[in-house]
Amino acid sequence: MTATGGTQLVDLLITDAAELLTCAGDAPDLIGRIPGGGVAVDGGTITAVGDVSGYRGRREIDARGKVVMPGFVDSHTHVVFGGDRACEYAAVAAGQAPPAGVSVGILGTMADTRSQTVEDLVEAAADRIREMIDSGTTTLESKTGYGLSIAAEARLLEVNARLEEQLPARIVSTYLGAHAIDPQRDPQDWTEDIVAQLPDVAAQGAAFNDVYCDAGYFTPDQSRRILEAGARHGLRPKIHLDAYSHTGAAALAVDVGAVSADHLNFTTDGELRALADAGVTGVYMPCLEFAVRHPAPLDPRRLYDAGMEVALATDVCPGCWTTSMHLAVAMGCRTGGMSIAQALRAATYGGACALGLAGTIGSLAPGMAADLQVLDVPSHEHLAYRIGRNSTETIIIDGAVVKGAGVD
Ligand SMILES: [Zn+2]
Repeated sequence: MTATGGTQLVDLLITDAAELLTCAGDAPDLIGRIPGGGVAVDGGTITAVGDVSGYRGRREIDARGKVVMPGFVDSHTHVVFGGDRACEYAAVAAGQAPPAGVSVGILGTMADTRSQTVEDLVEAAADRIREMIDSGTTTLESKTGYGLSIAAEARLLEVNARLEEQLPARIVSTYLGAHAIDPQRDPQDWTEDIVAQLPDVAAQGAAFNDVYCDAGYFTPDQSRRILEAGARHGLRPKIHLDAYSHTGAAALAVDVGAVSADHLNFTTDGELRALADAGVTGVYMPCLEFAVRHPAPLDPRRLYDAGMEVALATDVCPGCWTTSMHLAVAMGCRTGGMSIAQALRAATYGGACALGLAGTIGSLAPGMAADLQVLDVPSHEHLAYRIGRNSTETIIIDGAVVKGAGVD
């Protein structure tokens, strides 16, 4: 509100953006483009968006020639892990079998992760998350899932909690004990161990309970058992669905009220419509499909045709080592056929929907958390056009400048 005869003083004022993108959920153009717009921020919250001529800031950022938009919301990551799989990647890229003794697949990373201390795991993940923040990500999800024993998974939840404490980004913790099955374990026994761990998982601060439902991983029945049990402890369901085969578990995702269904490569159009009707957000990860040279890449236009809200995520993990939502946006457009507006909405508002946080982050409006970025490009098209470039110049999280001139 403008004071009579003057201007209202706020903590931070961003003015004169070449393009301000609100990424509001109801924006007819998907991104809420306002040429010349600005943002007023006070006390960590957005006060005004668009016309900010009635404000002045204790700190001001001149955004002429630049784009201002919400911080990216990376809603699917496996950023906590030990070691790396560079040797496996190099061999596979060359069309060869990985040499004996190198870490391969989820189980290779399981061994590397178990061998590290909590401190080592925090340090390695923090390095990756700092890169994510540097390239515009202000909220990220972090899954466990490379421990695959009760004790090792509990340690990964502790890693998530420490990362959330130490780093400025918002970090949403997801329990993914049902990522894979230690070959020493019986799948049904491990399923029951997971169920038994869920009360502690909730107490350790996880928001979501996720399962990898696919051939060779968890069956729809096991997935249902785990997700329903988690819901009883306040853990909201997520599901890795149909990435490499058709499981029929889309109906399960609807039944349990999954917040998101991720991958969806083999999900049928009818199932996608049922997911859309149930308000399940579809998460698309083009960088992962690129990294693994997926045999059946998802056409995300099928999700839009079904009426789904779509989120773009990096899926950063040992098999897809990218921290860049800029790259996910570029690939979503060029390999997935998304419009640039669709991709930018999916990288912000869509990601917030996939984390159940669309009421507080992912778009710019009065009352929302002040998580935003200033990008040194003259229009939003450049964010897909300059492939994978980190165009993020200034990052603001909860109203605090964490990258750019005058870091708090
Ligand atoms: Zn995943």
